[in-house]
Amino acid sequence: MDSDETYIVPEINPFASPMADSGVGTQESGYRIQGNKLEARTPVQLPKVCIHCGEDANQGRSFARTIYWTPPWIFLLLLAGPIFVIIGSMLVRKPLKIDYALCQACNGRRKIRLAAVSLIWLALLGCMIWALAWESGVLGLLCLFLFLAGIVGLILCGEHFKATSHSSGVFQLAGAKAPFLEHPLVLRHSVDGEDAF
Ligand SMILES: [Zn+2]
Repeated sequence: MDSDETYIVPEINPFASPMADSGVGTQESGYRIQGNKLEARTPVQLPKVCIHCGEDANQGRSFARTIYWTPPWIFLLLLAGPIFVIIGSMLVRKPLKIDYALCQACNGRRKIRLAAVSLIWLALLGCMIWALAWESGVLGLLCLFLFLAGIVGLILCGEHFKATSHSSGVFQLAGAKAPFLEHPLVLRHSVDGEDAF
């Protein structure tokens, strides 16, 4: 276990500010489109275009989120125990601040999904109480089903963007759909030159 920790330490300085590596060369709002992904440095502000359908999102909902990229090798720490994965992730993960928007219609659909997931978890709570009170195996199975449905729902309602790679301060982000990535306004605001990034 000690060897795992000595592996982490050279990677980062735990006393540095989380934003310490976002300084030099950062261009505010800079992003670049690479195929079906976005590349950006933190912080990045996307145009007010719905990231799902490409509609004007000025009347929609704006999001200001911080997402994290965690190097995949961190899961090797599972061999030492789940707690090491959690602690290790918090030490080495890289934050990206991102501002983006959904149009009214897409945000409405998101609210319905959130409500549905909340209902599933409420139903699970009720089901667990009855399953225990009646010592019912059938209700126990239903609990398991609701639990799995609730987890899937949470994943579907989770962050819109996922950092798929990180290199020298540049994050690669999945999550924006084609209508956004091909939108003229989005293309106009993107950074073209390699050196401008
Ligand atoms: Zn939309």
